[in-house]
Amino acid sequence: MQTVSDYFGSMVFDDRVMRATLSEEVYRTLKKTIDRGAQLDISVANAVANAMKDWAIARGATHYTHWFQPLTGITAEKHDSFITPAPDGRVIMEFSGKELIKGEPDASSFPSGGLRATFEARGYTAWDPTSYAFIKGKTLCIPTAFCSYGGEALDKKTPLLRSMEALNKQAMRILRLFGNTSVKCVRTSVGPEQEYFLIDKEMYDKRKDLIYTGRTLFGAKPPKGQELDDHYFGVIKPRVEEYMADLNEELWKLGVLAKTEHNEVAPAQHELAPIYSTTNIATDHNQLTMEIMQKVASRHGLVCLLHEKPFAGVNGSGKHNNWSMATDKGVNLLTPGETPYENAQFLLFLCAVLKAVDDYQDLLRIAVATAGNDHRLGANEAPPAVLSVFLGDELTAVLEAIENDKPYSGKKKTQLKLGVDVLPLFQKDTTDRNRTSPFAFTGNKFEFRMLGSSNSIACANIMLNAAVAESLKQYADRLEGTEDFAAALHLMIKKTIKDHKRIIFNGNGYDEAWIKEAERRGLSNYRTTPDCMPHLLDKKNVDMLTSQGVYTETELRSRCEIMLDNYCKAVLIEAETMVDMSEKQIIPAIEKYVFKLCETAISKKNFAPDISCDYEHGLVKKLSTLTERAAAFTADLKESVVHVRDFCDIISQANYIRDSILPLMTSLRAVVDEAETKTAADFWPFPTYGELLFGVR
Ligand code: ADP
Ligand code: MG
Repeated sequence: MQTVSDYFGSMVFDDRVMRATLSEEVYRTLKKTIDRGAQLDISVANAVANAMKDWAIARGATHYTHWFQPLTGITAEKHDSFITPAPDGRVIMEFSGKELIKGEPDASSFPSGGLRATFEARGYTAWDPTSYAFIKGKTLCIPTAFCSYGGEALDKKTPLLRSMEALNKQAMRILRLFGNTSVKCVRTSVGPEQEYFLIDKEMYDKRKDLIYTGRTLFGAKPPKGQELDDHYFGVIKPRVEEYMADLNEELWKLGVLAKTEHNEVAPAQHELAPIYSTTNIATDHNQLTMEIMQKVASRHGLVCLLHEKPFAGVNGSGKHNNWSMATDKGVNLLTPGETPYENAQFLLFLCAVLKAVDDYQDLLRIAVATAGNDHRLGANEAPPAVLSVFLGDELTAVLEAIENDKPYSGKKKTQLKLGVDVLPLFQKDTTDRNRTSPFAFTGNKFEFRMLGSSNSIACANIMLNAAVAESLKQYADRLEGTEDFAAALHLMIKKTIKDHKRIIFNGNGYDEAWIKEAERRGLSNYRTTPDCMPHLLDKKNVDMLTSQGVYTETELRSRCEIMLDNYCKAVLIEAETMVDMSEKQIIPAIEKYVFKLCETAISKKNFAPDISCDYEHGLVKKLSTLTERAAAFTADLKESVVHVRDFCDIISQANYIRDSILPLMTSLRAVVDEAETKTAADFWPFPTYGELLFGVR
């Protein structure tokens, strides 16, 4: 039998394959490009392309594609076959270095937020040799970046790579200040934990809301939800287990380090976590994971829901972005070291993150803003829309001691002097792990928990890397050239703690009292996408992101436009779906049941005039009232959807949608959900929450 180690990565053109299929010289040159971004000569590219093609064909591939991540948030691919006509009428299989390095997809249908209008009509894709090519189905996929001819990024990967480079540059300056001359680069690593729901395909097919919008727009609460917490880490059902086994196998073949799987809090909810990897690879792998999750589900008669809030009243799905910085020597810069010197360095990097999260709360909120995630942030299972950092009691006490030049009690009442004392190792405290914090330090990494389950992790990491790079830059600017490094360092750490301690919060993030406290501290609280998104263009944000070389101002304008446009489209599709379901399915179903009730009452009266028909009478009256109200809300909703066109700019459109359309949707839903509880099951036109959530056995 084949073992996992036999087939792990078997569909990936990885280092092992490169070494085996490329000549010594080509391999060395390519490696230089991968490790140091050196330019690739066309003859080398030709050799790599040829080896890739032979390897892929031997594994059944017939096509290749430049695999990229446009601003839609999902991946895109256009397949070209390897075939080239031969003079004798047959075909040969060819793939050139030019085709490997650069592609020209017809980009006109991807969102560009006006970018392509101002530049060139077409975009091109450029090979990202740092992420391995792989085979999916019959296609060799080449991870690429997607740009306009003017060089403006039309994708999520280009700014991500730029942000990694920005952080690398500034972190290296800091490490040099600490006398570290051997490190060649600093990379950020990410391990994204992915939550999802699995439901039965047959039931899914009966719900237009799930089909069109990925979430249920109607649905009364079932008698049992997640009250008992009996699903969390519970026994995995056989059908789900088979799904997970199949999923793992597919992911492992693609070199994705799928590691942990378990049931989540809500019924039908599960989680998959990979072992962490370099950020751009983790991003590619997370996109692949989401895609494969859905594909494998359909093989098992299931549907994998990645929407962040598919069901009201039960937990939504998020993605925990575990993030750290490490040197090429494998040293994690967020692990307190064993010598005082390493500890001072650790504290500086820790402070850089604190400062970054405080200074750019808005950017981190923006990075996770979607119509779907708005339902989750602020609800009682997800972190609130307010950003704060959880450090745990021990580390917080250390920072307080430094700030006040006071003894640190954990260290035998000695005064903590940077560069002199050794810090305790901050183990992830398993007994007191804060699950409500949006941004938690967990021993040697930060866990950013605001991401929605369908988000690409690129945006969050772009903002995080850029903001931390900015903190480090400011530190390096100040520390380079000081006479007394240790003293300057100490002062700077103290100042950071003093200036940014408001962002530290170790309590319960779901508590309403915290939201008030956060307001008092001056932390921002953007509840919705239209609230936060325009701040992307605030001067301080544009200045930082452009000076770090992560985005141009034009690119930022285009992102703002696209994200608001996505928000509007998502909600409008939901509104139209609700109208459709209400008019074509729900109201007719209730009417049918009302008719049945009336018929029953009439028959009863005919049968025996003295029989009371109070039950039918009461129910008919109640349901008729609900129908009237549902019809009225439906009509209002229909009208307001048309009214959106009266607003000419996207910000007013988004605001109108938030203030007028979403509340109407809530009202319509409330009436329909009440009617559902009063309508006989046989008459209800689609599967209920109970059936959806408990239907997979
Ligand atoms: P949990 O948060 O469920 O307790 P872990 O802390 O073990 O689980 O890991 C959660 C995720 O964090 C995993 O994907 C893991 O690979 C990732 N992770 C662990 N260490 C790091 C690190 N240094 N940098 C980034 N991610 C990490
Ligand atoms: Mg976690």
